[in-house]
Amino acid sequence: MPIPHYLPHSSLQQLFEALTEDGYAIVGPQAKENRIDFGEIRNTAELPWGIGLIQDAGASQLVDGPKNRCFAWANGPQAMKPLLFAPREPLWQIRHGKNGYVVDAINPETRRLAVIGLRPCDLSALRIQDQHFLEGQYPDSHYGARREGLLVIAVNCTHPAATCFCASTGDGPGAKESFDIALTEDDNGFVVETGSPEGEQILARLALKEALSTQMETAADNLRNAASSQRRSLVSDNLRDVLMSRLDHPHWDEVAERCLACGNCTAVCPTCFCHAEIEEASLGGNHSLHSREWDSCFGERHGYIHGKQLRPEIKQRYRQWLTHKLATWHDQFGRSGCVGCGRCIACCPVGIDITEEAAALLK
Ligand code: SF4
Ligand code: SF4
Repeated sequence: MPIPHYLPHSSLQQLFEALTEDGYAIVGPQAKENRIDFGEIRNTAELPWGIGLIQDAGASQLVDGPKNRCFAWANGPQAMKPLLFAPREPLWQIRHGKNGYVVDAINPETRRLAVIGLRPCDLSALRIQDQHFLEGQYPDSHYGARREGLLVIAVNCTHPAATCFCASTGDGPGAKESFDIALTEDDNGFVVETGSPEGEQILARLALKEALSTQMETAADNLRNAASSQRRSLVSDNLRDVLMSRLDHPHWDEVAERCLACGNCTAVCPTCFCHAEIEEASLGGNHSLHSREWDSCFGERHGYIHGKQLRPEIKQRYRQWLTHKLATWHDQFGRSGCVGCGRCIACCPVGIDITEEAAALLK
């Protein structure tokens, strides 16, 4: 196992420069309006220094955080998902050619991306998205093209939000795999671990010192505290049989009374991958554009098949979401579809909480 090193905050820009030299565009978190968003950055000064984030059911607010930290918050509404699985993108166009119709594939523009600030829950979600998009019978070329040039710089979670429950699902707060470089922040910098030859090669150019035992102990303590401070939890064992045997549980009606079917929970969920196919014909009638865009099992369109709405009631849509996420997901991917990030709790406008709903259904 590679020896952990120590990257002082003052040398973080050197890491950015090494990434830029290798041709990577850097994407990282920034404080914007009242949330943390991921976008392209060039300078470490653009990271959310001194920012904290309070999140609870239906609530999210940026606050002052420790001045000498840039990762003293848990997560924003999005991180990795839109970078690989675009919210809306054209796939092909069909046009009149000399000898009939011609189908032109539209390939995505790709570039090497280094994403800094992904949390351990995001890495678990990335692993699930990889399984879905790349490891089935028909690998997705758009996702695959973006995934190929990706370098993952994870940041272990030392400041979980009240909505986080990754410790109970086994997905955090420390990263175990699926990263090239993993950082654990303290007041002066980061304990750095590498998880791939690419990560090692980049780190080798920074001439960092080995991490001191005290620095590694502080990192381990911070992660232990982050796990023990989480108040929400979700039973993540195979819930398939128990949930599927409760499809008529009265609690589905109770949730439906509150749920607005807005689809926010599915949009922010890093493991949700449903999409719709859109056909746009040109007014001249000589070509049409075929796109896909994120869809939600809470929307009317999603359950409409061959002239029939399969899930006309909100209760049925919520049940579809939860039973897929926590039950039948095990059949598809060998694990739960929830990585404990808590985004659906913070971003639900009426504060519906997956951990509470699951607990009520399991009672
Ligand atoms: S279901 Fe909610 S808590 Fe679980 S991974 Fe999706 S957004 Fe995160
Ligand atoms: S659970 Fe909340 S976020 Fe999800 S569809 Fe219902 S109201 Fe919207």
